[in-house]
Amino acid sequence: MKTFVITGAASGIGAATKAQLDAAGHRTISLDIQHADIVADLATAEGRQAAIEQVIASAETIDGLVCCAGLGVTAPSAEMIVAVNYYGVMDLIHGLTEHLARQDGAAITVIGSFAATQQVHQPDALSLALLENDANAVSTALSNIAGPHVAYSASKYAVTVASRRLVRVLGKQGVRINIIAPGAVATPLHQASLNDPTFGQAVKNFVSPLGAHTDPNHIASLVSYIHSEAASFMHGSVLFVDGGMDAMLRPTQF
Ligand code: NAD
Repeated sequence: MKTFVITGAASGIGAATKAQLDAAGHRTISLDIQHADIVADLATAEGRQAAIEQVIASAETIDGLVCCAGLGVTAPSAEMIVAVNYYGVMDLIHGLTEHLARQDGAAITVIGSFAATQQVHQPDALSLALLENDANAVSTALSNIAGPHVAYSASKYAVTVASRRLVRVLGKQGVRINIIAPGAVATPLHQASLNDPTFGQAVKNFVSPLGAHTDPNHIASLVSYIHSEAASFMHGSVLFVDGGMDAMLRPTQF
């Protein structure tokens, strides 16, 4: 039996992941702004610190951290998207690495997004500011942001790159990190995007070679695999589960 911390476990991909890990006999500690073992607001620095402290108080060691909590384009503000999708992942990773490193074979999974690829060729000012850890530049970039969709892709690009940059430091401590980049997944977040008057039509038009969307259980299965012994040499990978969308649009980049 392993112990997992799952952020965003109250809904969608996080809830499916928790259900699968529970069914496999593991201990799961859910962390969310609602309906969770640890209720914390990952949109604020105080909430993230409280979350870290509560995790450490809840379990002497943890085998896995699964960062699913996130906000989509219908979130109240671009600031909140960045706060939850970027800082809500990176602060938790930094705050819990030492705790994870106590356990042999510990691993982290970050739920990124296919949307991160929109920034790969030319990362925008927000992506660069996040990666440079420059709070003033982040706030300037947010005040000039073209819309929540840009905050979303920037937050997902930055969290993917920042996670990959940790392979050496985490690897030395025996902690693996991998990123899953889903395409469309049938969850409340995706449904809210479909219903959105500004973005709904674009989301509906965005159909992968394998269809419109997948089931959150298919992402959860990959999380289970990443945290199994069979994946013990997988580190720093970005795993697309997008119905072929990335390969269709960028066949030469991998
Ligand atoms: P969801 O809305 O079903 O679940 C997100 C969870 O995050 C919710 O339980 C919510 O309460 C929690 N959360 C939101 N703000 C929080 C905060 N401030 N503090 C703590 N918890 C908070 O969405 P989902 O689709 O399951 O999304 C999970 C992850 O997958 C997100 O990071 C999302 O960006 C990513 N993703 C989703 C899709 C998709 O199509 N659904 C595609 C690509 C990536």
